[in-house]
This record gives sequence, structure tokens and C-alpha cells, in this order.
Amino acid sequence: MGSSRGPVIEIRLGSLLQNVSFTAEKCHQAGISLAGVVKGMAGDTRCALTIEKGGADYIASSRLCELRDAKQAGVRIPTMSLRVSMISEVTDVVKDADYSLESDLEVLKALNAEAVKQGLTHNVILMKDIGDLREGWWEEDEFISAALYCERELPAIHVAGIGTNVGCYGSVVPTCEKLKELTDCAEKVEGAIGRKLEIISGGASSSFVRVLDGDMPEGINNLRIGEGLFLPMLYENAYAHKVPQMKQDVAVLSMEILEVRDKPTYPVGELGVDAFSHKPVYVDRGIRKRALAAGGRADYGFPDEIIPLDEGISLIGASSDHTILDIEDCTRDLKPGGRVSFYMNYLAMLTAAGARDVSREYIE
Ligand SMILES: *Cc1c(COP(=O)(O)O)cnc(C)c1O
Repeated sequence: MGSSRGPVIEIRLGSLLQNVSFTAEKCHQAGISLAGVVKGMAGDTRCALTIEKGGADYIASSRLCELRDAKQAGVRIPTMSLRVSMISEVTDVVKDADYSLESDLEVLKALNAEAVKQGLTHNVILMKDIGDLREGWWEEDEFISAALYCERELPAIHVAGIGTNVGCYGSVVPTCEKLKELTDCAEKVEGAIGRKLEIISGGASSSFVRVLDGDMPEGINNLRIGEGLFLPMLYENAYAHKVPQMKQDVAVLSMEILEVRDKPTYPVGELGVDAFSHKPVYVDRGIRKRALAAGGRADYGFPDEIIPLDEGISLIGASSDHTILDIEDCTRDLKPGGRVSFYMNYLAMLTAAGARDVSREYIE
């Protein structure tokens, strides 16, 4: 009692292990290797070690510092850098990433020069945009020429494979037909460079649905999965796919209660704007019991990204550092010093994991 404790992410490592094991097993049965992605939990190293233990083949992140942390913490599987490299970070890419996703020839030349300097060979996965419109070559001819250029002219670059990303910006669904575009493209690249590619990486969590459905196109042999390991409710919410083998309680956010009081539900006075210059709409529901919790948008982003665990609690608003809860229908006895818990969506988890005042508590 008494020491300062802001919001806490409770991380159930046993649940994470179960989710990774299930995902890895399903992938492996389909001839697919698994890159476990840790960026959603800010590269938490205990999670990275759990992901390795669960059978992932690579540890992946979009931030090099998280790959470095994973290695320092003792993760032995190869690291994979997910965000195509900045030309300003090639030194660290070659040092910290065993594999990196790439989409620009100038960057690849810089990586080659750096790898020569460090006396290493750097493995790359060349990204082909098949419609989601984030990273990757767009024109297929240009993509194949780039692959050929790397193969012939960049001696310290090894083209380990090709990959794509869907469902991030363009919300494109990784259907079997869509992913076939990548495997067709892989065949053309293989034809051009005259050898087989080791890795054909077919996307992120959303592509795991193809594994569950058993209709992943022949040839896709790698997936990079983050959200689905931590928050598998994604499969049910976004793809109507129940996955009862997976645990929904890997990460739960809890906050301490500051105040419990009966108050009106409609603000009293002349109404202007809230803390974020918005003009919210309020519904007058009379006097109701509410609780104020110590945590807000600075800790988890947007209030509609967290969901109270308790039935009978609803989140009615949040400023930067406060969350306001309607607890009129809650049967649990809530008072200052007690805590309330929330499931988090991906954005909330990402924000909370990176927030300074949010600590992490591990449950085996
Ligand atoms: C974040 C990311 C992933 C993992 O995405 P999830 O939706 O969390 O599975 C995979 N690939 C790339 C390139 C990414 O940036």
C-alpha cells in the first residue's frame, strides 16, 4: 500500500504460450513458418521469450530496438525487422536484424554496402504490394528486376524471399485468390534468378484465417503474426472465426478507482467543448452511480478501445488521465483503492504497452 501505481497491464504468459503453441502448430502442419511479432506489446522481452518457447521460428518487430532487446534477453531464434528499413538505420538493421523486409533499391544498395563493411551477409524479404497500398513494389516487372539486381549486383545481400502485407492500410482481405498473386509472382522471381526462394511470406494475423480454413495457396510458407497471438478475439470479431483453443485473457488493463459517487448523467451548466475540443452528446439518464478511475487516453488511446470486464460497468467517457465509469448496475463492491479491469483492443494494447506510467505485471 502507498507506493505509486498507475494503470497495470496484467500479462498472462501461460495464455500467450497456449496461443503461440496453437498458432505455431497449425502453421507448421500447413508447411508454414511463424514469425511471432512483439511490437504490439512494445517488444516485451518476457513475451518474446514465451513466443520462442511456444514454437515460433522468428521473432519480429517493426522497431529494431525491440529486436535488440529480444536478443539481449536470450531469444535465440532469428530476428526479423518488419518495417522496411530507413536508409538512416542500415547500420543497425545489419547488426540487429537477421532478416528484414525491404521495398527500395537505394536502401538495398546501402544495406549491401553496410553488410560488406560489417563482413556479414544480410537476408532480405522483398515486399510486393498486391493491393493494400502500404509498402512494396507495385509494378511486377520492376519488382522482378529489383530482385534480379539484388541477386546479381549486391554480393552481401541474400534474397531469402518475397512477401506481402494486406489488411493494414487498405483493409484488403487475404483471400486465397489474392494470395495466389504473391505465389505467382514468386514463381516469376524464381524463374528470373534461377533458384528457389526460401521464404514466401503471406501476411499477418489476417492471413492466418487461410490456415484455419485450410485454403492457403500452395507456396506460401511464412506468416508474421502479432495481434492474433495476444488478442485472438480478432479472428471472431473481424473474420467470424471462433478459435476456442485460444485464450482471450493474455493482456488485461487495470486501473485504480479514485472516487465513487452518485452524480447526474447530464453535465450541469452551459456546454461548450470537452478536453479535446470536441462537442460530445450527453444523454440524461438521471442520477446514477459512477466511478472515476486513474488512467485515461494517455494510457490507452481511445475509450472505445477498452472494454470493462465486469458486467454492469460501462465506460462513459475519458480525458487524458481519467476514465469515467457508470457502475449503477455493477454488483461488485467498488470503492477508492479498488481496481477495475478492461480487455484491450490492439490500439489500446499498443498505446498502453508504450505508455510511461503503465506498468506490467506477469502471471505465469
Ligand atoms: C505489424 C506487422 C505484422 C503483424 O501484424 P499483426 O496484424 O499484428 O499480426 C506483420 N507484418 C508487418 C509488415 C507488420 O508491420
